[in-house]
Amino acid sequence: MNNSYDFIVIGAGIVGASTALELKKQGHQVLILEKEKSPGLHQSGRNSGVIHSGIYYKPNSFKSNLCIRGRELLLEFIDIEKVPNRVEGKLVVDDQISKIEDLFLRAQNLGMKDVSIFDKKEILEKEPYCKFESALYVPQAGVVDYKVVTEKIISKFLSLGGEVKYFNQVNAIEDSRYLKKIFTSHNQFETEFLINCAGLYSDTVAKLDNLEPNLQIIPFRGEYFTIDSNKSKYVNNMIYPIANPNLPFLGIHLTKTIDGNIEAGPNAVLAFAKEGYDWSTFNVKEFASTISYKGMWKLGKKYLKTGLSEMYRSLNKKVFLTEISKFIPDINANDLTPRVSGVRAQAVDINGNLVDDFVFESKDNSLHVLNAPSPAATSSFAIGEYIASKVS
Ligand SMILES: Cc1cc2nc3c(=O)[nH]c(=O)nc-3n(C[C@H](O)[C@H](O)[C@H](O)COP(=O)(O)OP(=O)(O)OC[C@H]3O[C@@H](n4cnc5c(N)ncnc54)[C@H](O)[C@@H]3O)c2cc1C
Repeated sequence: MNNSYDFIVIGAGIVGASTALELKKQGHQVLILEKEKSPGLHQSGRNSGVIHSGIYYKPNSFKSNLCIRGRELLLEFIDIEKVPNRVEGKLVVDDQISKIEDLFLRAQNLGMKDVSIFDKKEILEKEPYCKFESALYVPQAGVVDYKVVTEKIISKFLSLGGEVKYFNQVNAIEDSRYLKKIFTSHNQFETEFLINCAGLYSDTVAKLDNLEPNLQIIPFRGEYFTIDSNKSKYVNNMIYPIANPNLPFLGIHLTKTIDGNIEAGPNAVLAFAKEGYDWSTFNVKEFASTISYKGMWKLGKKYLKTGLSEMYRSLNKKVFLTEISKFIPDINANDLTPRVSGVRAQAVDINGNLVDDFVFESKDNSLHVLNAPSPAATSSFAIGEYIASKVS
């Protein structure tokens, strides 16, 4: 068995898969190591499925540039690969017109075409059940199932001669002359260059490579409800609130998925494990690492009230319902069925700041993706392109 590669990518989520595909297209020998049995089982398969327009992100940040470029590349890929999708836009709603106007200005500065301010009448033409007075219509937003996209990227990668080894959790990394030795639960591999796309475990993998990142991944669970199919007509596309500029989370929104269901969510609740998809999943070591982290204490001080209210809302369906009713009335608690949740890999720095932008950190022959939360699924092809241009 040949265990030596030009590039080894850790993680078969959408970021790892896109990066590996880009490197494979350039003719390199590329291996993906994944601890699970198949691709996209964590963040990439448990998200809102929104193709973001790029409107929210600070101009010239990685998030802004890579989201706008990534969206283009994603649409091209899903068109060629015939992945079901719908790009019919979203409404960002608020009764304060000044907030809508600020967002409109940002869209103009980004050169986004056909974004427009809607009054009540125009809102009702797009979303007949929506209660708001003013909204920004952003036609660039859409929906897709990112798990399907991830699987398609992996198929394409394999068809070009790339390799993926599942059930291979990376447990140790050693430097040996100009090579990296990677030890997994089953095997040992060598590579000239290592790329860490381990999502929720990207900080842990970075430490295996003797990096001491100035941040830690804190897991924030996002919970959703699916609204009864009798009420599917209540939303045609997507209805979003104006995001809190101090938080990297976009807030609870309503989305009509590719299957035609309306989903409400996600909230943002501190998870008791990196893969803590419900309240009962508790990992002592991981939770201890979260609460003993200095940055987490500082974050807790800043956002104690927000954090507690997110927890309360998570445990109380009626509070969640109140949030949904702000967008559309006539939904009741019986209409809500919990959907699978997701956990965001959100980096928090030592000063207790939620790191807003994507973070990439390089060593001699490795690169670590240390913060790739939303909109990293939309941006994934551009992230792959960016990493490949840096490391090739
Ligand atoms: C609730 C929620 C909603 C979101 N909504 C959107 C959205 O609407 N639009 C959007 O653009 N983005 C959205 N995102 C963000 C997006 O889903 C993520 O940014 C993206 O999926 C990150 O991909 P990834 O490949 O970095 O991570 P992941 O998909 O988590 O993949 C990491 C992979 O690494 C593997 N791994 C970890 N450790 C090891 C190890 N030691 N050895 C081997 N393998 C390992 C894991 O098993 C996993 O498969 C959302 C995220 C969440 C959680």
